[in-house]
Amino acid sequence: MVKPQGLLLVLSGPSGAGKGTICQMLREKLPDLAYSVSVTTRQARNGEVDGVNYFFKSVEEVKQMIAEGELLEYAEVYGNYYGTPRSYVMELLNQGKDVILEIDIQGAMQIKKRFPDGVFVFIVPPSLDELCSRIYKRGTDSEDVIKRRLASATGELAYANEYDYIVVNDVAQKATSKVLTIMEAERYRAARTYFIINEICHAAHKEREI
Ligand code: 5GP
Repeated sequence: MVKPQGLLLVLSGPSGAGKGTICQMLREKLPDLAYSVSVTTRQARNGEVDGVNYFFKSVEEVKQMIAEGELLEYAEVYGNYYGTPRSYVMELLNQGKDVILEIDIQGAMQIKKRFPDGVFVFIVPPSLDELCSRIYKRGTDSEDVIKRRLASATGELAYANEYDYIVVNDVAQKATSKVLTIMEAERYRAARTYFIINEICHAAHKEREI
């Protein structure tokens, strides 16, 4: 039986919407889901591990990767470069594995152009007040970065209609279940499963020949 290409799931949305938490929960529920570790030029936060959370690189290294076409997409987000390594994602998709990217909106729009079959999910907070309190509670960024993240959020919400699905993240577990439901439905899209029809017809044709 032909194995269909894996699902490319793209989670994005404003900073503080809870994409990271949902991504983590999805990975716990779906151990076969491959997570693409991004490269970034931002400083590692306390507890972040190189190669696990990000590949931490210098600006020169990332520019070199861009020049050599090693990134599937990249963007400058809040003053730092972020990008998705190309070879890892392509290899896994070609092996029929599902891959998740947790990236910003600029990156998601680049991926959408190259992979129109990807599944694009926009995660939003229940309100802007909630977004604000989540970013402050996280306590990982300087006041200046927090202000930039909040200022971008309203503009970023306007991109919602570029996505296939919008999921409100009020309770992370519920939002994660919604994303799982989306993935389940996406597997049965006719465009992804049409090869089954060809196989059925081919088998019937062979039987008639016997
Ligand atoms: P943080 O610094 O909080 O880890 O991430 C900042 C933003 O960059 C988040 O919106 C995150 O989703 C996004 N991001 C992380 N990795 C990538 C990537 O590879 N490409 C793009 N375009 N954005 C990314």
